[in-house]
Amino acid sequence: MRQTKMFIPTLREEPAEAEAISHKLLLKAGLIKQMTSGVYSYLPLATRVLNNISHIVREEMENIDAVEVSMPVMQQKELWEESKRWEAYGPELMRMKDRHGREFALGPTHEEVFTSLVRDELKSYKRLPITLFQIQTKFRDEKRPRFGLLRGREFIMKDAYSFHSDEASLDETYQAMYQAYSTIFKRVGISARPVVADSGAIGGNHTHEFMALSDIGEDTIVYSEHSDYAANIEKAEVVYEANPSNASPEALEKIDTPSVKTVKDLSKHLNIGLDKIVKSMVFKVDGEYIMVLVRGDHEINDVKLKAHFATDAIEMATQDDIFNLLGANPGSLGPITDKDITIYADNFVQDMANIVVGANEDDYHYINANLERDFKVNEFGDFRFILEGEPLADGSGEAKFKEGIEVGQVFKLGTRYSEEMNATFLNQDGRSEPLIMGCYGIGVSRTLSAIVEQNHDDNGVIWPKSVTPFDVHLITINPKKEEQQVLGDKLYTSLSTIYDVLYDDRKERAGVKFNDADLIGLPVRVVVGKRADEQIVEVKRRDNGEGDEVHIDDLTSHLTQIFQEIK
Ligand code: ATP
Ligand code: MG
Repeated sequence: MRQTKMFIPTLREEPAEAEAISHKLLLKAGLIKQMTSGVYSYLPLATRVLNNISHIVREEMENIDAVEVSMPVMQQKELWEESKRWEAYGPELMRMKDRHGREFALGPTHEEVFTSLVRDELKSYKRLPITLFQIQTKFRDEKRPRFGLLRGREFIMKDAYSFHSDEASLDETYQAMYQAYSTIFKRVGISARPVVADSGAIGGNHTHEFMALSDIGEDTIVYSEHSDYAANIEKAEVVYEANPSNASPEALEKIDTPSVKTVKDLSKHLNIGLDKIVKSMVFKVDGEYIMVLVRGDHEINDVKLKAHFATDAIEMATQDDIFNLLGANPGSLGPITDKDITIYADNFVQDMANIVVGANEDDYHYINANLERDFKVNEFGDFRFILEGEPLADGSGEAKFKEGIEVGQVFKLGTRYSEEMNATFLNQDGRSEPLIMGCYGIGVSRTLSAIVEQNHDDNGVIWPKSVTPFDVHLITINPKKEEQQVLGDKLYTSLSTIYDVLYDDRKERAGVKFNDADLIGLPVRVVVGKRADEQIVEVKRRDNGEGDEVHIDDLTSHLTQIFQEIK
């Protein structure tokens, strides 16, 4: 493609609105244009990359016998009422009305539509298992659209749904998907780690998220430098080995702590470490109040609490509730109480002695509180977040933290939708059973951003060869010079038989062309310049900047070599 015929509106200025590097580079290199908050146009270069990603996704889906379909974006409210999500999905669901006042959702995900299709069409166990997928635009009215394509309100997703007659078959497809996802992310040039994700109250390892480690992202990933271990910080297990304090218990004493509200204030006020203090928090679990204790330098993890109590219905108690219950406000709470409240504590509280706790009386604390003697804990467990540097659960060393971008997720749904929507099949005995389901998503447009997040330098994008919009950037330094223009045209024709070539035939200054070429980031640049009359061009790699002068007779073998070497 000749650049004079293309549409690549590169920017000279830094786009000020962009926080994420991928957002900045996609704008600057002329790949996307924002239309309104969270809604982007994909310009020609982005379209080519998206097509390449989609092509890889399709190949890997077909490899595991997933079948491509294309389902409606516009989905009638009645389907969403069947699954009880019309209300539950909340304001993120984009809704519309037709001219008759009938209501519709613009699909944020397609469980309902696929479940209804299979329910109506595939009624026998003989037709199962089956996996269907599509690549399509999704709509979510996100509260905070940001980071360009990373969190849009309109975005492209590959979504797949599998239907089974038994759990074993679901397990098999889940494993196949998991492998396919690993392959897809590797092929598109992303390093993404699968992490066990939170499946809410259901518990168990029913879902994995594929996380591209990066400098920005909305999830903190705990990972190992010595193994494949990776976990969302919400789930990362804290290893506990008993290491009780050998301090001898001292006398419990109530002390005045005027206007001390936080553990930090308290540690300053008493001039002691946070690890000598216990924080006490009150939660409401399925309508009942509990107190949870953690060491002052640790943080309670409510996702772990939810998993422990197998419920999503956990919230912090309100200040009023706490006051009614314990007679004090948050800031002076503690486990020494005659009130009827069940007390849970993080494992590490067991090791502490002569602890500082709230006295359940505003502006008072106890010092030298000791477990058993002064207060009881009903149950210990892993209720907190891991800290960077703590040992990892797989024994591979210290926990490292990095931000992660969720590029995909695989999920065992079980009968969540089929039961609500009465989607059944006839088993071998002719009896009707609910379909067992899995669902699997890849954020295709988010993946485009994640690729840039992981593949760039200060000057621009460095496209992995598998998804690059063009393979070769052919540039004539000065097309007004006849020998350069002639050689440029000749190489454009010959190279185009092997590669996708972007031919910069614009009458721009060399500096402008080179800046744009760096920004756009095609893997290899072929420059026709002052040695054109000798049939010599410069070939430069985008990844490491290495360049060579090459005679055009050797050009294809030289390029073949480079394409073998680069990522
Ligand atoms: P998130 O937690 O980031 O909101 P999600 O878990 O709600 O995502 P899924 O329902 O699992 O998202 O959707 C499948 C995939 O679609 C995600 O793994 C992600 O890659 C992509 N995706 C989800 N929301 C967005 C969005 N607003 N913009 C771009 N991609 C998205
Ligand atoms: Mg997800």
